[in-house]
Amino acid sequence: MSRRSLIAANWKMNHTVAKATEFVVPLRAALPRLTPVDLAIFPSFFCVHALAEALKGTGVAVGAQDLHWETSGATMVLIGHSERRHVMGESNEIVARKLSAALRDGLVPILCVGELLSERDAGNETTVVEKQLETAFHTLAAAVAAGVVIAYEPVWAIGTGRTASPHDAESMHGSVRAWLHGRYGDVADEIRILYGGSVKPDNAAGLIAERNVDGFLIGGASLDPASYIAIAGAAVPR
Ligand code: PEP
Repeated sequence: MSRRSLIAANWKMNHTVAKATEFVVPLRAALPRLTPVDLAIFPSFFCVHALAEALKGTGVAVGAQDLHWETSGATMVLIGHSERRHVMGESNEIVARKLSAALRDGLVPILCVGELLSERDAGNETTVVEKQLETAFHTLAAAVAAGVVIAYEPVWAIGTGRTASPHDAESMHGSVRAWLHGRYGDVADEIRILYGGSVKPDNAAGLIAERNVDGFLIGGASLDPASYIAIAGAAVPR
């Protein structure tokens, strides 16, 4: 089964409205050669409206960086980012409630999972990620689960300049796919699994070449249009 790559930019608290609008100029110019991939930007809340206006009609999705589990509305949303889990103290159970709420309201959630360095050093990375998946997908039927995008983001690789090797990323993505297969059968092949953690233009091609790496969730390198466009370009099938 072939899955379209998704290249998602997580701007966190960066970029003013003026900067966000400027970003769109080179991005629009690059879009004709990026049509084989899906693009999404998660700006700060201040910029959501301006960016959505500037990107109208381009097919580039604009999403929210988080949501509450009560009724809300946007198109895509990040859930369970490591900064929410480890800085704001969100448990697997809170993440699961948010995931259900996003799906209930018709949003496309990007569910972030990933282990701490201490958990990897102890050899527990797969157990940790599987526990995150089990709790998040606990109540979801296959037809609903098919609407989730997963981002594997090892916490030790986020914003550190230290990326997982293509081999290590594929090893975890393969385990996530196998877990999804065990629970949902063939629906597992429809679910995109993105990699996040210090993705840059010079390591994107090696990572995306792996079978189960279906795109990226990018922090720092997504702030510069040239580097975001270069990473998206690496995901265009050759
Ligand atoms: C992130 O914050 O989701 C992320 C992957 O950041 P960076 O690309 O800067 O490591």
